[in-house]
Amino acid sequence: MTSPRTITVLGSTGSIGTQTVDILSRHGERYVVNFLTCNTRVDDLAEQVRRIRPRGVAIREEWAWKRFRELCPDFTGPVLLGEEGLCEAAAHADNDVVMSAMVGFSGVVPTMAAIRAGHVIGLANKETLVSAGDIMTAAARAYGATLIAVDSEHSAILQCMVGERRADIETFIITASGGPFRSYDMESLHGVTAAQALRHPNWSMGAKITIDSATLMNKGFEVIEARWLFDLPSSRIDVVVHPQSIIHSMVQFIDGSVKAQMGIPTMLVPIQYALTYPAREPLDIPRMDLASIGALTFESADRERFPCLQLAYDVLDEGGSAACIANAANEVAVAAFLDGRIGFMDIPACISTTLHHMERLAHPSLDDIVATDAAARRYATEHCSRLQHR
Ligand code: NAD
Ligand code: MG
Repeated sequence: MTSPRTITVLGSTGSIGTQTVDILSRHGERYVVNFLTCNTRVDDLAEQVRRIRPRGVAIREEWAWKRFRELCPDFTGPVLLGEEGLCEAAAHADNDVVMSAMVGFSGVVPTMAAIRAGHVIGLANKETLVSAGDIMTAAARAYGATLIAVDSEHSAILQCMVGERRADIETFIITASGGPFRSYDMESLHGVTAAQALRHPNWSMGAKITIDSATLMNKGFEVIEARWLFDLPSSRIDVVVHPQSIIHSMVQFIDGSVKAQMGIPTMLVPIQYALTYPAREPLDIPRMDLASIGALTFESADRERFPCLQLAYDVLDEGGSAACIANAANEVAVAAFLDGRIGFMDIPACISTTLHHMERLAHPSLDDIVATDAAARRYATEHCSRLQHR
């Protein structure tokens, strides 16, 4: 038997985080839990601490950090605070694998800390690659860090590429469920509510990515993520809608052969694969039953009804800080939509307007990206409040 792997989970209280903790607790003998981290959900963190006994924790918000002390007075490990604390946990020398499962731009700096420490990183936090893909992947090469896909589509691509030569890859075909509004016409899309958008047909996920799935921004971000993880140009990355979410993505090769990776829709498989890669380990989940699924269907993705998908291709092709601006505007617009302050179709409009107004940098540094994110958020926030008061 191989020796246990030491794991740190950034964002352990989220959807990906709790499923990672589930994998760690199912196979306690295979893993040592180093740090668990969260933003504010300390009650959930305290419960995880009692259950899987990490060596330490890191908490973003100070009130939550104080509350953790009250909840776990007997915890003797380090209790780190703030972004610095998250970075210390991410870069800790004992980490074999860092699961990057924070949501949004908040993951950029801690994930970079793990990269600079040369760790193996299970990357769920796609917004880090959307905002700073060039910088992150260049740093990974420079510091000898390895980025392993956790997103189900990218895990599928990784699994399809095992045993293949890079030069033999022609295209990636990323599958999309199409989200809850796949068959809505433009007029109906204008009127949909956050409650409707939160009802995803196939996946249970955090609120932000669930809205991104409804606008197809999530799929657009996955195209950008694929570009950076696997170094393939956008012209060779296609999206196809596949409502059953059984095929998680495909790779087409130079001889026209296509490999697909399939299974029931669950994040447990890609999460565990990222932790054990390149090995596989047993996993006790329901198996796919094709006869009861009946049919796998496909349709093209409509970039007019779902303009976020086109916006993602556009900012990827533009390069520089454009995708960072789009990501920041999207985070602001999604939060405003979840709050009922703006409409569903205001999300792509907010991204377009913010892109239109913001200056670009062709070769941003990480500091430039942090500043661009903040400036784009300011602009998008003002734009959303103008919409709210119209
Ligand atoms: P979530 O909202 O459920 O969880 C987010 C986690 O990040 C929580 O632990 C929270 O405490 C932490 N966090 C949030 N803001 C923070 C901050 N400012 N500082 C420190 N910690 C912070 O999100 P999720 O659905 O688990 O998604 C996490 C990432 O994984 C996202 O980038 C998402 O796109 C990606 N992803 C998720 C799924 C899924 O099934 N949920 C699938 C594929 C990819
Ligand atoms: Mg995905």
